[in-house]
Amino acid sequence: MNLHEYQGKELLSSFGVRIQRGIVAQNAEEAVTAAKQLTEETGTGWHVIKAQVHAGGRGKGGGVKLAKSLDDVKSLAGQIIGMDLVTPQTSAEGKRVHQVLVAEDVYYPGDSEPEEYYMSVLLNRSNGRNMIMYSTEGGMDIEQVAEDTPHLIFTEEIDPATGLLPFQARKVAFNLGLSGTAFKEMTRFVTSLYKAYVQSDSSLFEINPVLKTSDDKIMAVDAKVTLDDNALFRHKDLAELRDKREESPIEVEAGEQGLNYVDLDGNVGCMVNGAGLAMATMDLIKQAGGEPANFLDVGGTADAARVEAAFKIILRDPNVKAILINIFGGIVRCDRVAQGVIDAYKNMGNINVPIIVRLQGTNADIAKELIDNSGLDVLSATEFQEAADKVQQVLG
Ligand code: GDP
Ligand code: MN
Repeated sequence: MNLHEYQGKELLSSFGVRIQRGIVAQNAEEAVTAAKQLTEETGTGWHVIKAQVHAGGRGKGGGVKLAKSLDDVKSLAGQIIGMDLVTPQTSAEGKRVHQVLVAEDVYYPGDSEPEEYYMSVLLNRSNGRNMIMYSTEGGMDIEQVAEDTPHLIFTEEIDPATGLLPFQARKVAFNLGLSGTAFKEMTRFVTSLYKAYVQSDSSLFEINPVLKTSDDKIMAVDAKVTLDDNALFRHKDLAELRDKREESPIEVEAGEQGLNYVDLDGNVGCMVNGAGLAMATMDLIKQAGGEPANFLDVGGTADAARVEAAFKIILRDPNVKAILINIFGGIVRCDRVAQGVIDAYKNMGNINVPIIVRLQGTNADIAKELIDNSGLDVLSATEFQEAADKVQQVLG
């Protein structure tokens, strides 16, 4: 589960990580009130108005703007709220902005130039250890840095038995070229950041940029936080931060039905039980000249009701030109699934896409009979290849 920047920053702050202070606003009037309050608390005259959507690269898309007066705050917030923000990380239609973060300007002039760094905390899956990845090249696309100047990206791995050790935090500050107050600030920053990561059961923190202000404070200016869904039951307060407006409505509905569904761009809907079989089925569709419209795992214990729910969800995608149902009846009996498909088909009435059903396993023969005798526009297949051929046939 992803958090908005403002939620991520609040989480970090609660663990003692210094952040650029801000207040979230739903409309231009609230933005002005927020700006006034920030001026009272921090003394700042300038504010940044930042679109709150689950996508990075907002600055490039015009979703982050500097306001030098309350009039600016009002007009910029008014512009950004309601816009469809297109960034390198969104689709061409962009993401609708429902709220902005009004934040203090922290790039104020002073003894030294503000400097931007990159820092993320994530799991190194090859050895199962958390690591801190960081770079002097902050504020820009880290993928680009990795390509052009890979020697400017550092990693620090953390032994789960000891946790982050003080010398490691100092090493980070040293490699970033810091000294004096900024060095101490950075060791504190890294230490609290790592603590926040572990204690919130996150799977990704990406702070780009981490800022050294002109008076040597180290703070998070941006925060991308991804929480581990499997640990959300331990964090009821964090689970409540979910913003369903940011998610695909079909995916949300599927989740509520206990289905594992991912929306894709293709034209062949698939309903499969088991993630491995789902991957193989998607390959099969591609070989047959189609493109999968979705990944859908109905689960190993799929019953007729779940099949029906899955069926309805697939059909909500207007791009679907055919549906391939590929179910292995191990725990679930094939005849039950077949009956579920037939019932769903009849209940829904106006299904006008061809359906290919391959049921293998317990009672597969009865299932095939049910399908073949249903009088519906449903093709049955026994073998994998046969299913592929039929997909090809219906796509024409
Ligand atoms: P992203 O584009 O979605 O990654 O959003 P960020 O939160 O990283 O903001 C984009 C850029 O806005 C940053 O890289 C900064 O250059 C700029 N920015 C953010 N906060 C401030 C600020 O307080 N003052 C000024 N002048 N620029 C800021
Ligand atoms: Mn950023």
